[in-house]
Amino acid sequence: MTAPLLAVDGLVKHFALSSENWFRRERPTVRAVDGVSFTLGAGETLGLVGESGCGKSTIGKLVLQLIPATAGAVRFEGRDLVDIPAAELRRLRREIQVVFQDPQGSLNPRMSVAEIVLEPLVAQGEKLTPALREYAGDLLERVGLTRAHATRHPHEFSGGQRQRIGIARAIAPKPKLIICDEAVSALDVSIQAQVINLLMDLQDEMGLSYLFIGHDLAVVRHVADRLAVMYLGRIVETGPKHTVYTAPRHPYTQALLASVPVSHPRQRRARVGVRGEIPSPLAPPPGCHFHPRCPFAQDICRNEAPPLREIAADHRVSCHFAETIVPAKG
Ligand code: SF4
Repeated sequence: MTAPLLAVDGLVKHFALSSENWFRRERPTVRAVDGVSFTLGAGETLGLVGESGCGKSTIGKLVLQLIPATAGAVRFEGRDLVDIPAAELRRLRREIQVVFQDPQGSLNPRMSVAEIVLEPLVAQGEKLTPALREYAGDLLERVGLTRAHATRHPHEFSGGQRQRIGIARAIAPKPKLIICDEAVSALDVSIQAQVINLLMDLQDEMGLSYLFIGHDLAVVRHVADRLAVMYLGRIVETGPKHTVYTAPRHPYTQALLASVPVSHPRQRRARVGVRGEIPSPLAPPPGCHFHPRCPFAQDICRNEAPPLREIAADHRVSCHFAETIVPAKG
């Protein structure tokens, strides 16, 4: 069996906050990511979904090595990015790119579009030659813009066009993996569809893998091959898209899916929700983190954290009662 392109193993990220209480010995700690494991194959899209604050964007930053992990491994083509020498990590950065949620904030307003698009190559030491500028024009055409846009600046573009610039920048170094961190969340629904279609076309042409981070299950459903549902720093359910959407076994996944209207495109943007508020990651509930909000909770749930275990081929669920909790109809 060939190694997956990306293998995340036991990833942990805790943020220690500064304590306002001088007499308190331990600084309060946010457990943003708490032992997350998953794999992503070449040409595959994994949708990482959950409510705001569940840790999904932190995972994106950890994979990109923008922040250090507290524990665990991030293996890209078998090499652990956490441990490799800086020079090799810099070279590998070509292979892993990112498209952020906010195209406005992620594009330098003082740079021309060509300079922005070529940024990852210049960061790797390439010179801004005429040939490279020509390549920038090719990239802009590839994402549905024109060569004439190369000399303009980000403020001259709409939100959807700016996200196309961000995508052109991401594909410039011909990466193998792109992390799409809420990449279409800030766009209007009609523009979302165009950008998603562009991402899927590029995937077919370039054999790209996507780690597609999002909170809108209707959007993620469109693009993902497999899904990983996160709750308070942990994956609670993962499996092939069809399985998770048609036969979800974790009550949280079921609640997320039940809250996604599908009849009207505008309703698809409704905020996902389950009963009650998500608890603070500063003090996650003991046992199963979901138990204060779970209609099926029993005593064991309050005391023992359920492991993420395989209940069917490639379908893993973190629930003591996954076999007996039947998906709701409708
Ligand atoms: Fe609900 Fe218990 Fe399953 Fe957690 S382990 S999701 S509390 S039934």
